[in-house]
Amino acid sequence: MFSIPQTSGVYILVFHLAKATSISFDRKGTRHTFPPGWYLYVGSACGVGGLSRRLERHRSRIADGKNMHWNVDYFREHALLCEIWYSETDDSRFEHYWAQTVADLKGATVPAPKFGASDCKADCPSHFFHLPGCPSTAVFRSQLSSRGHSTAVSVEFIAEPRGKRSAPGLQCQYLLGRRFLEHRNLAIRDGNLEPDEWTSLAEHRRARLLAESVAKEMKVSFPKLKEAIKFATAVETLIENCGESAWSVIFDHNRPQARKAIMRLSRTSDVRQCHRVKGVIEGLFRSIAPHSDDTVFDTVKYGEVTSRLARARGSLEELRKKLKKTRQGGLLQEAQKLSRLCRLSAQRLDMCLRNRIAPASAVPCYLGKETIMRIVKTKTVKGKVIGLARAALRLIVKNVWDFGEMMRRGLVPTEQQLYDTLRDIKQIQETVEID
Ligand SMILES: [Zn+2]
Repeated sequence: MFSIPQTSGVYILVFHLAKATSISFDRKGTRHTFPPGWYLYVGSACGVGGLSRRLERHRSRIADGKNMHWNVDYFREHALLCEIWYSETDDSRFEHYWAQTVADLKGATVPAPKFGASDCKADCPSHFFHLPGCPSTAVFRSQLSSRGHSTAVSVEFIAEPRGKRSAPGLQCQYLLGRRFLEHRNLAIRDGNLEPDEWTSLAEHRRARLLAESVAKEMKVSFPKLKEAIKFATAVETLIENCGESAWSVIFDHNRPQARKAIMRLSRTSDVRQCHRVKGVIEGLFRSIAPHSDDTVFDTVKYGEVTSRLARARGSLEELRKKLKKTRQGGLLQEAQKLSRLCRLSAQRLDMCLRNRIAPASAVPCYLGKETIMRIVKTKTVKGKVIGLARAALRLIVKNVWDFGEMMRRGLVPTEQQLYDTLRDIKQIQETVEID
């Protein structure tokens, strides 16, 4: 499968060098020892045959009758060409945008100053870079888009890297799943199909047929590939939302993250994802897994409001039953205090939803994150019973905290959801008022 178009475009050749190699890279015999690792060469193709013809040329070797012309031709004789990343464009500036983006990737260095940069007039440090670890298309795409140069980047797989150290641990699983994701990108591009027609891996669906062919190609079972696809999707979601730092946190072998933690975080909001990733980098947390103490915005869809209120109501009803049997003054007093805050939070949410206040002033200071977290964490009264009240308060006030951002993101209730929410709020208020 080699489906590179004949149009003009920009490309990156991704090479792997298993061990340090001395290569003379021009006609004069200029020699340089290249360390092991990954090499990215940025180029562009216009004219007859476009990308297709140029990349066919890069794939070939002297043995195929190639005339040596560029520095990269000499390098290619020694290194393994693993992947080609490319994008169709007539804009010749993209070659330099791409080179500058690669130059800024973490760990990227210019291995040989005179190599491949002879015709660049755009101040790029080079068009040929060394990376110690496996390069990530997801990171590259996210960096391109943060620079405002987003174009569809397609990937063609050429050869598998050799050597044990090419991909450690979880990264292997990611790379396997990514192979399917990239094949799917191409299929969506070429088939003019909506991306959501490719999400289901159920039998006979398009995505499933493609996955089965990828599994065969990679010599793994379909269930194994399916797990890898789920994982790769989670990783790419985190990179899309948090950029390169997500990649370095997820695959940092000095501070390994559990697969489960990565999967869980990927299902939360982008704000929480960045909060956790940044926290791990700054040494505030060891795991990127979401934690109940996170007070950042964390609502992905409106349905979460209804679900949180239902759980809060359950806790408050159980609390009410348990309080009937107790005569502990301290417990009753603390429960009343928390119940009152539950009522105030529910009331506030009701006001927000009926649109009587602007989202900007949705959270009054007595319901502020710091205030509430201090109250919830001050455990003068201990035990399961009071835990129910604390849990209910957290669940209700969370909706107030997230309200403004939810509206800004268009996470608004349907008429039915609004009706259900207002009903739940009323029931919560009735439950806590009785005490
Ligand atoms: Zn340049």
